Amino acid sequence: MKIIIGNWKMNGNIQQKDKITRAISETQTDNTIILCPPFTLLNGENHGVKIGAQDISNHENGAYTGDISAKMVADTGAKYVIVGHSERRLYHNETNEIVHEKAEIAIKHNLIPIICVGETMNEKESGKTADVIKNMLEQSLPQSESGEFMVAYEPRWAIGTGKTPTMDEIESVHKMIFEYLEKNNREKTPILYGGSVNSTNASDIAKIPHVDGLLIGGASLETETFLPIIKSVK
Ligand code: PEP
Repeated sequence: MKIIIGNWKMNGNIQQKDKITRAISETQTDNTIILCPPFTLLNGENHGVKIGAQDISNHENGAYTGDISAKMVADTGAKYVIVGHSERRLYHNETNEIVHEKAEIAIKHNLIPIICVGETMNEKESGKTADVIKNMLEQSLPQSESGEFMVAYEPRWAIGTGKTPTMDEIESVHKMIFEYLEKNNREKTPILYGGSVNSTNASDIAKIPHVDGLLIGGASLETETFLPIIKSVK
C-alpha cells in the first residue's frame, strides 16, 4: 500500500476536479490517494478523495496580499499541504528556512506537510546530491515532536522533463533520507519519490526500498494518465 499524490500545479477547473475525484473514488485500490489542486479548487465536492494544498504562507495571518494561510487551508477540510516544491523554491525564492516555517505552521494547524527536497542537475553532476539533500533535510524539516509529515525526494532536473534517476540512484537517496529520519526517531515518516513518474515507470519505482509513495505532476491531470498509475502501484 503506497501513497500517491497528484500535484496539479496551476492547472485544472471544477469540472476536471469533479471528473477525476469521482473516477478515483470508483477505482479499486489499497493505495492512499491525495489530490493537490490549486487553492480555488480546495472547497467543493471531492467524492471522498483526500485533498491537499500546494503551498501555504509562513505567516499566521495579516498583510500578505495574495497569500493563503495554513488555517484557511485547514478550514476547507484539506488535510495536507505540499511545502518547498522546487517551483516555489525557484520562482518564489523560498529558502530552507521559509520551508521549515511553513512545515511548522502546517503542523500547528493539523495539516500534514509534504516537504520537498531535491538536487539540481549541476549539483548531481558535481557529486553533491547527498550533501545537498542532507542540508535540505536538516534545515527544512519541522522540529515539532508531535506532528506528522512526509518527505518527497524530487530531483529538480527530473520534474516535468521526462528524465528520471536510475533505480539505484533513487534507492540510494531514499536510503539516505530514511537513515536521516531514523536517526531523528522519525523512521515511520513516509518518503515519496517525484519527478517524471508515468504509468510505465510508476510500478517499478514504487517497489524500490524506502519508496513509500509517489508525487506526480503532469500525469495526475487526466484520468487517462492518473488512474493507470494508481492501479499499477502495489
Ligand atoms: C511535481 O510537480 O511534483 C512533479 C513531480 O512533476 P512531474 O510529475 O510532471 O515531473
